[in-house]
Amino acid sequence: MPDEPDGTELDGHHAMRLETGVALINALTGEYAHGRAKSPLGGHELVRAAADAIEGDGQVDLLAAERLRDLASRLREVIEALSRNEDDQAAGLLNRMLADSRARPVLHRHDERPWHLHFHSPEADLVQQWAAGLVVSVAAAFGAHIPHRVGLCAAPRCDQVYVDASQAQIKRYCGLACQNRVKAAAYRARVRRSDP
Ligand SMILES: [Zn+2]
Repeated sequence: MPDEPDGTELDGHHAMRLETGVALINALTGEYAHGRAKSPLGGHELVRAAADAIEGDGQVDLLAAERLRDLASRLREVIEALSRNEDDQAAGLLNRMLADSRARPVLHRHDERPWHLHFHSPEADLVQQWAAGLVVSVAAAFGAHIPHRVGLCAAPRCDQVYVDASQAQIKRYCGLACQNRVKAAAYRARVRRSDP
C-alpha cells in the first residue's frame, strides 16, 4: 500500500466543527466528568447547554436541544466504538448518520464571506445543518493518517471526549484535571506498595 503523504491537514472548517462536536457531546451526554457523576440536563438547562455548545444563543428551543442531544449521543457511540478499536462498527454508524443527515456538498456564499463548502441543503433547519456538518467532519477525521483524532478520556469516572490534533497522537485524557488525577492515583499506589 502506498504511504500517505506526510502532513495531511484537516481542513480548517472540519477542525473547528470537531471542536464544536466535542463541546456538544461533553455538554449534553455522558455520565461522568473529571471523576464526578453528571446530572442529566432537562428543560431550560438543556437548552442553555446546547446553545452554548454551538454558540447559537437564542436559536435553540427545547425540541432543537433534544434533537442536538440525540445527535451528540450518536456521535458519542462512534467515538466510543473507535476508542475500543471497533473501526468497522464506527464506520457503519457514521455511514448511517451520513445517510440520515442527507449531507451533500454545496458551495455557499453569505455575509460577504468567500465561497466555502457546506454539507447541508439551503432549506435545512439548524439541527439538520449541524448534523450534516458534524457527521462529515467526524467522517473526514476518521482516516488513520489525519492528525485529528477524537478520543474518549481514559481516566476512571470520566467519559468526556477530546480532539487530539498532535502529530504524535498520544493524548489520552480530556484535560489536565484528569491527567493529574490519574498521576496522583498512580503515585499513591506506588507509595502504598513501597510502604509495607
Ligand atoms: Zn477526563
